[in-house]
Amino acid sequence: MVWGKVHSWTFECLDCEWRTTTMPAGDMLLRGVTHFDTCPACSGENLMRREATDLERLIERILPAKRGAR
Ligand SMILES: [Zn+2]
Repeated sequence: MVWGKVHSWTFECLDCEWRTTTMPAGDMLLRGVTHFDTCPACSGENLMRREATDLERLIERILPAKRGAR
């Protein structure tokens, strides 16, 4: 499977331990799913966004638990 130039973002909360890596489909940003303005864990606004590393992308793909029950 070729993932091409899919941009993956890692959001990190500076106030707590919350962190997530998202892989938006195309340019679509779904607030609360692939894009976060505030931390869903502590409602903090000190979120940092950076491009996900290859390792984080890999983890995101092999950890279905983060996708919810499926
Ligand atoms: Zn937080």
